[in-house]
Amino acid sequence: MTSPRAEIVVDLGAIRANIRALRDRVRADLMVVVKANAYGHGMVPVARVAREAGAAWLGVATLDEAFELRAAGDTGPILSWLHVPGEDFERAAALGVDVTAYGVGELLAMSADVHGLRVQLKIDSGLSRGGATLAQWPDVVAAALQAQHSGAIEVTGIWSHFANADDPRDPLSQIQADRFSQALAFAHDAGLAPQAIHLANSAGATLRTTDTVCTLARIGIAAYGLDPAPAVSSLGLTPAMTVRTRLAMVKSIGAGEGVSYGHTFIAPRPMQIGLVPIGYAEGVPRHASGRGQVWINDVRCDVLGRVCMDQFIVDVGEAGAAAGDEVIVFGPGTAGEPTAQDWAVASDTINYEIVSRMGGRLTHTYTDSG
Ligand SMILES: *Cc1c(COP(=O)(O)O)cnc(C)c1O
Repeated sequence: MTSPRAEIVVDLGAIRANIRALRDRVRADLMVVVKANAYGHGMVPVARVAREAGAAWLGVATLDEAFELRAAGDTGPILSWLHVPGEDFERAAALGVDVTAYGVGELLAMSADVHGLRVQLKIDSGLSRGGATLAQWPDVVAAALQAQHSGAIEVTGIWSHFANADDPRDPLSQIQADRFSQALAFAHDAGLAPQAIHLANSAGATLRTTDTVCTLARIGIAAYGLDPAPAVSSLGLTPAMTVRTRLAMVKSIGAGEGVSYGHTFIAPRPMQIGLVPIGYAEGVPRHASGRGQVWINDVRCDVLGRVCMDQFIVDVGEAGAAAGDEVIVFGPGTAGEPTAQDWAVASDTINYEIVSRMGGRLTHTYTDSG
């Protein structure tokens, strides 16, 4: 059998090694973030490897993600953090999933029909996204204490999230850390002293070394081997995702022929072009039209013209390619192939978006470099 027509190949060994390296580097236990299908890598297999590598916690956005982890047999601590009114908090309580509360109304609703629901409180220290503002914090703490007293909930953590941790020169991170410390002190004085205290994401945990109050760091992108702040530093981790397919066709076109929709590329000379059978429905960014590159026969080949829904065209003139030849869209970069970071630059986005958007008709294949 030949390999699948188009697949995401995930090196679980790379993820394991990345997490182990991060455990050595970060002075806190790790919550490995496996939301969004583990940033496109496949949630359940990644979760298993993360636990093997010593992840004390798993982090997800939605309750459904947490329930899927439980259904797959994960019994360890899991935190979810993005809920809408009316979600199944009874089930979260029954399955021992920690949920996050942002405000008093949410706390009251969540604690109405439950016993022993594990709740972490989120303070908004400056991102202005989810979480209680500093002004709301005293009321949130009071409501949490009351709900805990009734037995409905147990407050298991207090946390916040950086707005700009990938820029170590931005003083905002220290301001946020100070606000977080103040909020923690307030909660402590009021009688809340939960175990899980966390603020940093990958960038915060690897670029800052001063957050000593935290017991956990939430690690997403770095576990997958990508740098959270590529402009600032390379963590020297191994990217786990390779996207590969095979050329559907190769042909010659004449000088002056337009390529793909809108003819945004016109062949300046006779050219050999190759048809790559994946497109934006698989997550190949249309914004990388005319700018991305793929790897064929050890040569970087330019994307010509627009990326379409199911396919795009590349210049195979230097690659001497034939139909059926392997196309690496991106990989770890060790052989010279383009990386997710290269595609991020080509499409004016961040590596996070490149890997987490890959999907569509791509299948997942797991390898383990050990
Ligand atoms: C996604 C997410 C993370 C992980 O961030 P990385 O930059 O990928 O490490 C951490 N915390 C929260 C709240 C998140 O939503």
